[in-house]
Amino acid sequence: MSNELLLYNSLNRRKEVFEPLHAGHVGLYVCGPTVYSDVHLGNCRTFTSFDIIYRYLLHKGYKVRYVRNITDVGHLTDEGEDKMSKGARLAKLEPMEVAQRYTVGFHDMMQAFNNIPPNIEPRATGHIIEQIEMVQQILANGLAYEANGSVYFDVEAFNNKNDNSYGKLSGRKIDELMAESRELKAQSDKKHPSDFAIWMKAGEDHILRWNSPWGEGFPGWHLECSAMSTKYLGEEFDIHGGGNDLKFPHHENEIAQNAGSCGCGGARYWLHTNMLLMNGRKMSKSDGNTITPQQLFTGESPHVTDSYSPMVLRFFMLQTHYRSTMDLTDDALQAAKKGYSRLMEAWANLQGLEGKGGAQNGTVGKELEATLAAAYGEMDDDFNTPKALAKVFELVSRINALKGGQLSLNEVSPDTMTAVKAGLKTLLFDVFGLKEEGADAGAEGETLSKVMDLVLDLRAQARAEKNWGMSDKMRDGLKDAGIVVKDGKEGTEWTVG
Ligand code: AMP
Ligand code: ZN
Repeated sequence: MSNELLLYNSLNRRKEVFEPLHAGHVGLYVCGPTVYSDVHLGNCRTFTSFDIIYRYLLHKGYKVRYVRNITDVGHLTDEGEDKMSKGARLAKLEPMEVAQRYTVGFHDMMQAFNNIPPNIEPRATGHIIEQIEMVQQILANGLAYEANGSVYFDVEAFNNKNDNSYGKLSGRKIDELMAESRELKAQSDKKHPSDFAIWMKAGEDHILRWNSPWGEGFPGWHLECSAMSTKYLGEEFDIHGGGNDLKFPHHENEIAQNAGSCGCGGARYWLHTNMLLMNGRKMSKSDGNTITPQQLFTGESPHVTDSYSPMVLRFFMLQTHYRSTMDLTDDALQAAKKGYSRLMEAWANLQGLEGKGGAQNGTVGKELEATLAAAYGEMDDDFNTPKALAKVFELVSRINALKGGQLSLNEVSPDTMTAVKAGLKTLLFDVFGLKEEGADAGAEGETLSKVMDLVLDLRAQARAEKNWGMSDKMRDGLKDAGIVVKDGKEGTEWTVG
């Protein structure tokens, strides 16, 4: 494996050299979505960050088993209702209909962002037996107790047995914990407020329920990830990821469950992404500070003045390190749109360049090689995409200068030019996961493009003649055909979808 890979391990709060458990192999587990509503852009940020991490591990030559679950049971609202059941009740649907609808929507969105599907995508409801077995193991180890049909993890007993290690990921003390917990608040059967349910008795009107040794019930939310990561990656595995809002209680409890069931460590490296903000504030549905990816694709939201394609959004995400908060503003998106097209233009320009120097590079050739190597070096430093992208833009300037004649191709050896083309291709498309937009549309795309030029010409003519009825009819007809037309500052744009 070339060059060391450093990653920031939340468990130890420092950057560490990554050393997989089994040479050449990586087990990667990422907490997936709770499929009771559409994924929002914040979720997409987290999943795209882990997609880039996955892609980079593949690029480093590791054989990666990437597991990302689907939460379709057990994740409760603050009022204690199962999120799936609540979604179903509101929409008058079977919970599994709700799960299916939003799982399909989630997959579509992941595809739009060009995220590679995981190798295994287990569902919580498909692993009830494994979860019951884990509860039994924890009970057998004396680290849980049954009360009134529910089973609770005994945090105090666990702490006494494990050097007070509960709270080591989130850095919290047991007494401080309950206030911030996303757990059901009024669990009166608990011995201690920081105990948490690993199995819950189902109330009479609870729809999602299974038979268990403790009566009809359902698993606690945190249990699924412990059970499924153990099943598919082993009792100890390499990397566990998720958004940093999951550190507590979800990940803290996962660690406790893994240790409490088999006495094993679970994940060795914990990676956490930071949150997406909008206009400086946490994205939130309740105060209207929210936007869906679809609204960004079409530009139909009061928060934006323009439409932004999935690849512009991906480029935008690359500009911020995954451990920093990312602020979504219209200005920043405008800048990303320009940046992405400047990058793709330079990529196209590069294809027409040939190194004309001798076998030995001049200064320019050496700089091209060094800058590309530095970009990869930044990826080795905890997947630092903004710094890698900055190096790529140094290359962009040089490529444009070579094309414009300000720098000389005589200073670049043919071999270097070939290597730069290959290295940049890998970085942009395999590692960053960018796509040339419209590039996969092929001949059909070209035909559509020509037809759309004609249609938009006719529409412009109708507008010039103040024939608003015709202009609107054309826009609505195109919308029915799945084509969204948007009149912006720089003319009329159209997107499919
Ligand atoms: P959920 O469906 O709520 O369980 O969330 C799925 C993933 O998205 C988790 O890893 C969350 O940490 C992450 N996530 C939720 N909100 C945001 C946000 N605003 N920014 C970034 N990631 C988020
Ligand atoms: Zn999880």
